[in-house]
Amino acid sequence: MSEKLIFERNSHGARAATIRKPDVPEYEPSFALRETFDFPELTEVAIVRHYTALSREAFGVDNGFYPLGSCTMKYNPKLDEEIAALEGFTDIHPLAPEKSAQGSLAVMYGLSEALKEITGMDAVTLQPAAGAHGEYTGLSVIGAYHKGRGDTARKKIIVPDSAHGTNPASAAMAGFEVVNIPSDEEKGVDLAALRAAVGADTAALMLTNPTTLGLFEKNIEAIADIVHSAGGLLYYDGANLNAVMGIVRPGDMGFDVVHLNLHKTFSTPHGGGGPGSGPVGCKRALAKYLPDPRVIKNADGSYSFAYSADSIGKVSSFYGNFLVYLKAYAYILTLGAEGIRRSAEGAVLNANYLKAGISDLYPAEGGARHCMHEFVISCSRMKEEYGVSAMDVAKAMIDYGMHPPTMYFPTIVHEALMFEPTETEDKATLDEAVAVLKAIYETAHTSAETLTGAPHNAAISRPDEVLAAKSQKLRWKK
Ligand SMILES: *Cc1c(COP(=O)(O)O)cnc(C)c1O
Repeated sequence: MSEKLIFERNSHGARAATIRKPDVPEYEPSFALRETFDFPELTEVAIVRHYTALSREAFGVDNGFYPLGSCTMKYNPKLDEEIAALEGFTDIHPLAPEKSAQGSLAVMYGLSEALKEITGMDAVTLQPAAGAHGEYTGLSVIGAYHKGRGDTARKKIIVPDSAHGTNPASAAMAGFEVVNIPSDEEKGVDLAALRAAVGADTAALMLTNPTTLGLFEKNIEAIADIVHSAGGLLYYDGANLNAVMGIVRPGDMGFDVVHLNLHKTFSTPHGGGGPGSGPVGCKRALAKYLPDPRVIKNADGSYSFAYSADSIGKVSSFYGNFLVYLKAYAYILTLGAEGIRRSAEGAVLNANYLKAGISDLYPAEGGARHCMHEFVISCSRMKEEYGVSAMDVAKAMIDYGMHPPTMYFPTIVHEALMFEPTETEDKATLDEAVAVLKAIYETAHTSAETLTGAPHNAAISRPDEVLAAKSQKLRWKK
């Protein structure tokens, strides 16, 4: 670990570059940054070493296995980054006239069309900048739709107890009341509870399929019927489309609105706060409420922006995160329909392979049922027998050069660990992960105390996570 901050490495008078004496009269600034602020002075090699050391302390998918369930840390092809870095795209001004930005409009139109096809929806907006932002946008569209029909009593959004935390939060942000419903024995939607919850005040049900346990919700048609018969709509949380894309479409399962996370499924790395993109798709009856503007293709083949009098308005400055669209479009075009399907099949195969490899030691939710792109294990038994928690197992993986899986989510499973190996891992890596998890289990019953102190080889071992989030020290003071 590089213990010193860059300010503490200050070596007064050192310079990274030598600037020739100017052959024009020197300008005397009234305000000199270097004198006002105490910037550190370092040589070029010291700066390079400092930042390289810092970069080695971060763990990314380019460093190793990163099975973070729900959040999909899969490898993103470098080709897509190269395309998003092309100057013709990066240098374009957001206020450029439509006729000089035809290439960029073609990208936005082409991506929207591809996402319509993948989701089974009739219209798409690319504007939202994240999954939660997409949820907020989609729910606002649902609100506008009910209002547009003069149906102002629909104030409630039904959310199952297994939902991602952003679902109830977005519903509340969009002005709805949240109604929680429990899961049934198979951890799917409890149909009796759903029947009891729907009514004339139901705006929509928010759901993800596969469920948060990585299991396919087999009752989806019955669920759609119950909600639609009550006059409500179905919202699909498609943040993670990795198990189903190219195989089954939310639009065909009965959903009316969907958001996708381009930064989980379509080739944008994430973590660390963005940039992301959470496009929203919807059925025809809701299309006129989507954010303005959308890109249309004219009869002469040109592209332009289109506006709708009923739009809920803009949800992003300009058009959203354009360079993320480029990566997604490049990804979709390079894979093609066949490749998209195969990537989903690979995600499901890899998750089942890993699950089968460890399930005798770490029982998975759903038992022998096949999982989709991810699965959840419970470390309850391990905790009872050896005092080793899900946290200890996760932390121990760090010492083996692997990123921990998602911990303690979904909250309906005790001592939960949620694994999503993704389609971009090969068999050797999955075998290694199985061996590591077996070794950790072995350690649990031989020397459990080693695990409760893990990780032993990382820069930071066990920070107080609440304190680290709530009282960050972002300012350096001498
Ligand atoms: C990640 C995720 C979200 C939220 O997406 P953000 O881009 O982080 O706002 C919503 N739902 C599910 C299922 C997710 O995995």
